[in-house]
Amino acid sequence: MKLKEIYNKDKKPLNGEKIKISFEVFPPKNGEAGFEDLFTELEILKKYNPSLVSLTYGAGGSSNDSMKLTEALCRKFNLMPHFTCVRSSKDEVARHIKEIETLGIENILALRGDIPEDKTVYKKDFKYANELVSFIREKTDLSIGVAGYPEGHIDAPDIYSDIENLKKKVDAGAQAIFTQLFYDNEKFFHYIELVRNAGITLPIIAGIMPILSIKQMTRITSMAKISIPEEIKNNLEKFKDSPEDLKSFGIDYVSRQCEGLIGNSNIAGLHFYTLNKAFTTSKILENIL
Ligand code: FAD
Repeated sequence: MKLKEIYNKDKKPLNGEKIKISFEVFPPKNGEAGFEDLFTELEILKKYNPSLVSLTYGAGGSSNDSMKLTEALCRKFNLMPHFTCVRSSKDEVARHIKEIETLGIENILALRGDIPEDKTVYKKDFKYANELVSFIREKTDLSIGVAGYPEGHIDAPDIYSDIENLKKKVDAGAQAIFTQLFYDNEKFFHYIELVRNAGITLPIIAGIMPILSIKQMTRITSMAKISIPEEIKNNLEKFKDSPEDLKSFGIDYVSRQCEGLIGNSNIAGLHFYTLNKAFTTSKILENIL
């Protein structure tokens, strides 16, 4: 099912519940050997009837394994593979999207990716994601999702110019916006307001990441603009020697965060960054659905 249909306001969530749910996974670092574990985790999450499952691109794992995983997942789920263009020439992109379409996949998340420092892998056929969106639009019938950044992309001078650039992806043919994860709903509501004021009417799907460990929180905040509210900071400190208590706090916090998002007519769905583990995401879903 295509993004436009999934996130159509009049269409009820597949889980029959309060909000449309989707899950993000990544190719296991140990390649094909790790597929079985991933399928086991996804089997647990399947009962929440996700509208789609998305698969990241380029972060670890060989491209051969990624394609095998894409093939396996698209037989089980409505799969939205991600694709980043900075390391690919136009010909390579054309081949890749053709391959995906041949598998019967209907959606793709079109991304620029992080600019590689290694000049030999940076192809420069596509400078920004809006160029990739136009290219895919011209070549295929794939329904295209794009990334949005509630606190601004890390390279953008400010949120306003980042939203102007988001508009370029929308004008090029994107059909839904999947956001970077966030923990501060107020910042997210402000972002939605700015996006709508910019004349962007596309469905916005909120990026949700369970809180698992101090290491994980330190890593994500070093890579992207993501504010960590005081309540989380305090509990990271309080439970620094007690991972199970931290996990419980995280489940409680993110469940409350999701409850604060459900019911807002500008939020078309919740997209869970599962980190390939079912436990925490399913606990949150049990709390909110
Ligand atoms: P763009 O939309 O091109 O934006 C990049 C920067 O350039 C921004 O600062 C923007 O303001 C600016 N910009 C955009 N267009 C223009 C323009 N026309 N002129 C001037 N400036 C412009 N990375 C991976 O490697 N693999 C993944 O699978 C992956 N999945 C992701 C999923 C989601 C939901 C999100 C939010 C991010 C994901 N990323 C992934 C990270 C992403 O690749 C990086 O954040 C990357 O740096 C930017 O990609 P983009 O598509 O947002 O780029």
